[in-house]
Amino acid sequence: MELLTSQQLKELLALRKWLHQNPELSGNEQQTSRKLEDFIQQTQPHKVITGLGGHGVAAVYVYDEQGPTILVRADMDALPIEEVNTFAHKSENDGVSHKCGHDGHSAILAGLALALKNKPLSAGRVVLLFQPEEETGQGAAKVIADEAFKMIQPDKAIALHNLPGFSKAAIVLKEGPFAAASTGMIVEIKGASSHAANPEQGNSPYKMLAEAMLQLTELPEKKKDIFKDFCLVTIIHAKLGEVAFGTNPGKAILMATLRTFLNEDMDKLKKKAEILVKTLAEENKLKIDISWTEEFPATINDKEITEVIRNVSEDLGEEIIEIEEPFRWSEDFGHFTSRFPAVLFGIGSGKDSPGLHNHDYDFPDEILPHAVQVFYHTLKKLTTNKK
Ligand SMILES: [Zn+2]
Ligand SMILES: [Zn+2]
Repeated sequence: MELLTSQQLKELLALRKWLHQNPELSGNEQQTSRKLEDFIQQTQPHKVITGLGGHGVAAVYVYDEQGPTILVRADMDALPIEEVNTFAHKSENDGVSHKCGHDGHSAILAGLALALKNKPLSAGRVVLLFQPEEETGQGAAKVIADEAFKMIQPDKAIALHNLPGFSKAAIVLKEGPFAAASTGMIVEIKGASSHAANPEQGNSPYKMLAEAMLQLTELPEKKKDIFKDFCLVTIIHAKLGEVAFGTNPGKAILMATLRTFLNEDMDKLKKKAEILVKTLAEENKLKIDISWTEEFPATINDKEITEVIRNVSEDLGEEIIEIEEPFRWSEDFGHFTSRFPAVLFGIGSGKDSPGLHNHDYDFPDEILPHAVQVFYHTLKKLTTNKK
């Protein structure tokens, strides 16, 4: 028996397109969360929690108090990217669009709510979490830290991300590290400005800035003996002084993204980067201030849950792709995998799909019912397993 009626599928696709047309940036998902809350109310959850970690919404379905609680998470924020697509459901919010498919992820979760209404489970509790602020790495941590999250306390958690470059609806799996840890490093450098005619009277950070850019990017290779797996430093922003031809600059700012497959390597890479920058500052008699932002832990997938998803996908006749290398991008679902047995899996959005965050990307609706099925049957298995 089909999990969704054709009328329900139509409603879901309309919901997905509405979300696409009305994208909201991380932390500003007011309309999005209200729309999703309204939609899931029709599935009569046992409880709906709103305002979770900002604009998060969780719907709780209780089948049997004794069984385990399984959380399914979808993200819902859009990106500060101007959409170039011209289709009818194109973004109506200038400079903002759903270029990561979080509109699709939320619609899938809404579809799962409908499937659970059509065919209720027999055991456990299910929490459907619409999570805000994924793109900035804030949402998952905020939701988990929220006082109301205590009412949810999952035993296990699952989530998916659509993946351009893989055939449509293929289920992409890997146990262990699945997506990289990443952290933003901000280095403010303070020297002393002077007239451009007398640079010797000031202390410009230009040399240190140039050195730091080179040495930071070379750090993973130079220190490779101490790292267990893949490490990468990417310079993402640098600024020296102001555009003033009469002035020898007295300050600079440098930003880099640090990336590793393992959390322990991230700890080491951060320390090494800090030592490197501090040493350069001392050598150049400059003051520095280091801060960290957008910290994503690595997403580490649980073995048993991966096995369940693999079996379920096989039974459903879905194509399964087992990847060998983790993805280099990060997901804030890493906050869940570091606290609960959890799995993030991928679902192919088509080999020809534009990449995530590309200005012409759009979520492929055909994969939506496949994702609902995989989630539903995974829940069915996980809720009947022991805690
Ligand atoms: Zn994204
Ligand atoms: Zn995303």
